[in-house]
Amino acid sequence: MSEHKLQGSGGYVFASLTDEQLKKADLGVGKLFLAPIGKLESDKMSKHYCNNCETEFNNPPKINLEENTNEQVADNLVLVERGQYTCEKCGSIIGEYRVFKKNDESEEAGKAKPQS
Ligand SMILES: [Zn+2]
Repeated sequence: MSEHKLQGSGGYVFASLTDEQLKKADLGVGKLFLAPIGKLESDKMSKHYCNNCETEFNNPPKINLEENTNEQVADNLVLVERGQYTCEKCGSIIGEYRVFKKNDESEEAGKAKPQS
């Protein structure tokens, strides 16, 4: 794992990413983005920068869980949680996260079936 700067709507975060998370964050425009990754745990983040405070903090941002949902957003895709990363000082939103789940994930686990 290596540390990367991830752009959010109100600042940025430094976090350690797995290869899989790194792929999700890279939208091909020369920057990495926070939103597509899903939820990062506090212990994976080392710093955050707040646009409002114009300050870089040597701590992870706060994680503010907005709601636990079970919203069907597409066939076989459920939004289970959403929330924000917020500044430790002023509470401004640094970035947002969404956690999705596939309905049939449990069925597919262990089966190496080719993508159709
Ligand atoms: Zn702030």
